[in-house]
Amino acid sequence: MDDITIPGLSPQESYKYLGVQQALDIKTTEMKGVFREKFLTRLRKVLQSKLNSKAMFNAINIWAIPCIEYSFGVIKWSTSDLQDLDRKARALLTRHGIHHPHASVNRLYIPRHEGGRGLKNLEIVHNNTVSNMRDYLLSKRSPFIQAICQEDENLSPLNLAGQLDPPRSTLEQLSQEWRGKALHGRYPGSLGKSEINKRESLTYLRAGYLFPETEGRMVAIQDQVIPTRSYIENMTGRNIPTDKCRKCLQATESVQHITSSCPILAPTDYTQRHNAMARVYHPAIAKRCGLIRNLKKPFEYHPIGVLENDNFKLYWDTFIHTDRPIKHNRPDIMLFNKKERTVEIVDITIPADDNVYKAYVEKTTKYHDLAFEVKTIYNLKSTAILPLIISTNGLVEKHLVENTVKLKLDVDLISTAQRKVILANVRIVRKFLTSI
Ligand SMILES: [Zn+2]
Repeated sequence: MDDITIPGLSPQESYKYLGVQQALDIKTTEMKGVFREKFLTRLRKVLQSKLNSKAMFNAINIWAIPCIEYSFGVIKWSTSDLQDLDRKARALLTRHGIHHPHASVNRLYIPRHEGGRGLKNLEIVHNNTVSNMRDYLLSKRSPFIQAICQEDENLSPLNLAGQLDPPRSTLEQLSQEWRGKALHGRYPGSLGKSEINKRESLTYLRAGYLFPETEGRMVAIQDQVIPTRSYIENMTGRNIPTDKCRKCLQATESVQHITSSCPILAPTDYTQRHNAMARVYHPAIAKRCGLIRNLKKPFEYHPIGVLENDNFKLYWDTFIHTDRPIKHNRPDIMLFNKKERTVEIVDITIPADDNVYKAYVEKTTKYHDLAFEVKTIYNLKSTAILPLIISTNGLVEKHLVENTVKLKLDVDLISTAQRKVILANVRIVRKFLTSI
């Protein structure tokens, strides 16, 4: 009526329907290129942002991946197409320093509360989407949809008239493989031990507050893939003059040696790491007891040898005088509650992942004599020895929560302490590897 003519399509032309170019059939090759490009463009944009680790991985999962996920079940993607894209995405993460090239690939895709980094895996997302769409359509009673289902003999990616190939990888499979690996599997192995509080140990991943690059470095340390001399000799097969530690020249230079047993680093770097955790707990105890008013930032805080008011006396790294000479009389922290006539001996330690249980036993027995002497001298009602232990890789010893509660402190303090330990540990390794 308005003299408008709807133009016809020539045989080579297509039109866009719900975001997909099609004519008599879907332009698969062309559309795959479009979806691929859009996904990678968005991924690159996210990687250039300054988001923290969790926000970055979330942004990839909810902004970059859905623009390709949208095509799953509509356009035919082969497993190798998807694996290739997953590989491309990992290469981009590596280029931005977020994923170490030798760190566990499986771990990238494990949920954060399980110790992974929570990236969605395209192959798995694809298989789940296709399987859900199939279930949905096959459950429909409508004769129209049932007729379509009968005709779909490998016409659509859903293959409604036939069977789907069983999925090649699932999340459970990735997780099992991760745990089974010799080097990569050590961290999840330690995480599952009975002396470790798994939930608290994974706070830094669940909260994801680290920079993605820092988290990547921490994960590489936990995955044991940093270029120590031992790693270079045993894993890369390169010939080097010695695998002994470049600082002490005594033990084999392994991740464990660098982070917890090098005698050269003990008085400097390890003490600093220890004090970084102490600077979280000491001011919190002092504030709770009314011994200090304002909490300074932890790095500005320097504990004072003795703080005292009418109710409490708080010692920091001070010799405690006893009538009978005893060997271990200088705990990190000792809190004397004058009114209740109790003493709490607090000692902080940051052992290797494998030594967490040993460290707990050592700390509790070490101060037995001191606790006994103090109790006798001051005629106390009770004494308690409270070791506070987080491992070099941030594993939280299982008594840390109850010991923090016994000190009448907020359990959120554990996360702050863990953050200090992790940052100090990453720094120690970085400094070590850049030294000659
Ligand atoms: Zn050494």
